[in-house]
Amino acid sequence: MVNLLDKQRVESTQPFTVALLEQSGREAVFKRVRELSPNLPASDRAVGELKGGRGGAEQCLDAIDPVKYGSSRNHLDGAVTQLSPYIRHGVISMGEVRDRALKLSTPKQAEKFIQQLLWREYWQRIYTAHPERIWQDVEAYKTGFSPEDYADNLPRDILEGRTGVGCIDGFIAQLLGTGYLHNHARLYLAGYICHWRRVKWQAGAQWFLAHLLDGDPASNNLSWQWVASTFSHKPYYFNLENVDKFSGFNVDTRPETNAPLAGSYETLFARLFPNLEPSR
Ligand SMILES: Cc1cc2nc3c(=O)[nH]c(=O)nc-3n(C[C@H](O)[C@H](O)[C@H](O)COP(=O)(O)OP(=O)(O)OC[C@H]3O[C@@H](n4cnc5c(N)ncnc54)[C@H](O)[C@@H]3O)c2cc1C
Repeated sequence: MVNLLDKQRVESTQPFTVALLEQSGREAVFKRVRELSPNLPASDRAVGELKGGRGGAEQCLDAIDPVKYGSSRNHLDGAVTQLSPYIRHGVISMGEVRDRALKLSTPKQAEKFIQQLLWREYWQRIYTAHPERIWQDVEAYKTGFSPEDYADNLPRDILEGRTGVGCIDGFIAQLLGTGYLHNHARLYLAGYICHWRRVKWQAGAQWFLAHLLDGDPASNNLSWQWVASTFSHKPYYFNLENVDKFSGFNVDTRPETNAPLAGSYETLFARLFPNLEPSR
């Protein structure tokens, strides 16, 4: 998807696009941006519905429900806010988001929501203190494999969302088409890429950064390292039952179209990490 919120790219065309937006509307801006990017592959030409600017941010802010968030945030159709692109690009501050949550609920009720905001702050502080950790493995993989065992690049079927694994192809289509994925979908997709396909986390992180409207080196790359196990004590993986539990009706979780993800944690652990002692 054309990342219209990407700061560097927008800066070079900003005076022009703002004027065009005011005079002729969103469609005219999309048309012009496409003309300026003639080499974009067709799969990158989708335009998401996200509304940019302060108006869009305030709509999301008005819709925050910290209580519902606390009980449903891990579900793909839960009460998440979609505030991340606005926070990432400085349209809205973290303090403003926190204050709104505290206005709408008690500190106890807002705890889960504020904890998630703090994850962002934590990753930012690591980035500031150790910028080299953004692209280098912080620690060794704890998967029984070394970096040389992982492919350097994403295979074409992943880039095109044609892996043949139903839910994974759905998440890729959403990433390419809208520039947004729920946190749990990001975990599933990153886990699939690192552990099922054994691709270096750096390749996946780069791909996410190119497509996410909230693409942020700290939150993104350090989360990828957490999934890969180069910045955590064990690899993150999941099974189809888990995807089924946390997804709504829109996600394909049929066993016949998701065979590589089906099975118990023990079975998948043995298959994905054959060099490690059996676990769980
Ligand atoms: C592999 C992977 C890649 C990611 N890449 C990015 C990225 O490029 N940019 C980015 O902003 N976040 C990233 N995240 C973190 C998180 O997935 C997103 O911040 C969140 O899904 C954004 O959606 P939301 O605004 O609806 O979040 P909500 O659940 O509504 O949370 C509110 C805000 O809290 C912060 N937040 C929530 N969860 C996290 C988290 N786990 N880590 C850090 N901050 C969090 C975000 O600022 C978010 O906008 C990534 C996570 C994973 C697992």
